[in-house]
Amino acid sequence: MTHPLLHALGLSERNPGTYLGNGEWSGTTPDADIEVFNPSNGQPLARVSSASAEDYEALMRGAAQAFTAWRATPAPRRGEAIRLCGEALRRHKDALGSLVSLEMGKIKAEGDGEVQEMIDIADFAVGQSRMLYGLTMHSERPGHRMYEQWHPLGLVGVISAFNFPVAVWAWNAFIAAVCGDITVWKPSPKTPLTAIAATRICNEALKAGGFPEVFFLLNDGGTALAQRLVDDPRIALVSFTGSTAVGRQVAARVAQRLGKSLLELGGNNAIIVDRTADLKLAIPAIVFGAVGTAGQRCTTTRRLIVHESLFDDVVARLAAAYRQVEARIGDPLHPGTLMGPLVDKAAVRRFEAAVEQARASGGTVVTGGRAVERPGHFVLPTLITGVPPTAEVVQTETFAPILYVFPYRTLEEAIALQNGVPQGLSSAVFTHDLKVAEQFLSASGSDCGIANVNIGTSGAEIGGAFGGEKDTGGGRESGSDAWKAYMRRQTNTLNYSDALPLAQGIKFDF
Ligand code: NAD
Repeated sequence: MTHPLLHALGLSERNPGTYLGNGEWSGTTPDADIEVFNPSNGQPLARVSSASAEDYEALMRGAAQAFTAWRATPAPRRGEAIRLCGEALRRHKDALGSLVSLEMGKIKAEGDGEVQEMIDIADFAVGQSRMLYGLTMHSERPGHRMYEQWHPLGLVGVISAFNFPVAVWAWNAFIAAVCGDITVWKPSPKTPLTAIAATRICNEALKAGGFPEVFFLLNDGGTALAQRLVDDPRIALVSFTGSTAVGRQVAARVAQRLGKSLLELGGNNAIIVDRTADLKLAIPAIVFGAVGTAGQRCTTTRRLIVHESLFDDVVARLAAAYRQVEARIGDPLHPGTLMGPLVDKAAVRRFEAAVEQARASGGTVVTGGRAVERPGHFVLPTLITGVPPTAEVVQTETFAPILYVFPYRTLEEAIALQNGVPQGLSSAVFTHDLKVAEQFLSASGSDCGIANVNIGTSGAEIGGAFGGEKDTGGGRESGSDAWKAYMRRQTNTLNYSDALPLAQGIKFDF
């Protein structure tokens, strides 16, 4: 029987997975169906057809055609179109938020929060549509004017991860849309249903408002078409969100064709708890950062660096808090649940392997450390001490709720530990010492794209530029001036004099 939450968003047991434009969905390859499972009980939810090579070409033709009209639409009108998408998402927030929980496994409050992020970025994009500013420069030549303007880039390929199945798309797609671009989205094969629902809600809102559709969707059960998208010179920008391992391949391939890429890859985020830290703030921030979304956020707190004077106290308080979370693990759609399942069986195996590896490296499991005996992909939130910070398991992102705790003596040592991993996404310090806070935020402090004081590593706001350094890929999305990645800059010089002053003072006799 089809789950009632699917009905609410026009989905059924079998769904065409590719949006070709002009109201046309394709489901031409039933033999290559993607089977979607409910992570909280392991039961099948629905099927989605994978795109065929013919679908891919039809989609790319439709997208290219859509771009020629959309780039000529005034940017504030494009903003109005995205305002309508935001309104439609407000109306569907409850249903779409629930579908995110059902399909991906994050708890309902987080599912709704993810849709709220889509709404927030839509609002942001509306304002941005009137602020695609270029600079005016003073020309060194008399009677000349020089300025720069930003033009639409073209087709933007968005390849997204399972853990933020719709928000990451909206971060890209709404900003790209006001910039005049068309988005071709390849979502994770673990979350195709939310992708179909979000595409449908937004394109229907555009159509009802008299706007052309600008959001194309390509579901791919494997990676053949995703790779084709990466290699396709018609895709001006590939915005990739996912693991560092895949991102590295994507970056190399896009670079090979001199395309542009925007990379949002894995994190290995740490919180430093200074000796002056207010533990009333620090403990909930650490627990939220480490167990939220069952440790499946790119900004999840994976390492905790605690001043030696507080180490035992912090570990004991965390262990007590973790036991409270343990008691409220379960169905993500249940209002009392604090932690849902991991996304699939393979994720549970990776969790178990990491715990094993931590033990083998000398670690002690303070609490958690095993899967939960029940249907679905549940594991216990896990606290581990005693693993050397340089151990491979600590240096690697395991997408699960495992927190490694380390003691430190001096701030220099703490910052070196915080920076001593290949990834560079999010970081935080809890302190009441101004000097510690400023040192942490200085050029000699955190090397991450995000550095916070007295607030944890996860839960970034859309207004800032989001992304990280080193193995996190260097990309920035969402707020601040991230819009510039979705446009091409053109420098213009205009001569309104009767003379032609050539560069380097060169003069011709004719
Ligand atoms: P993943 O790398 O397995 O998959 C990401 C996407 O890439 C999926 O759509 C997948 O189908 C596609 N893909 C796989 N192989 C490909 C290939 N060869 N060419 C092109 N596309 C390919 O990641 P995941 O397990 O879905 O997501 C978890 C990872 O994503 C974690 O590492 C997490 O930190 C990262 N993430 C980062 C951010 C960020 O903003 N930095 C946000 C969310 C998730």
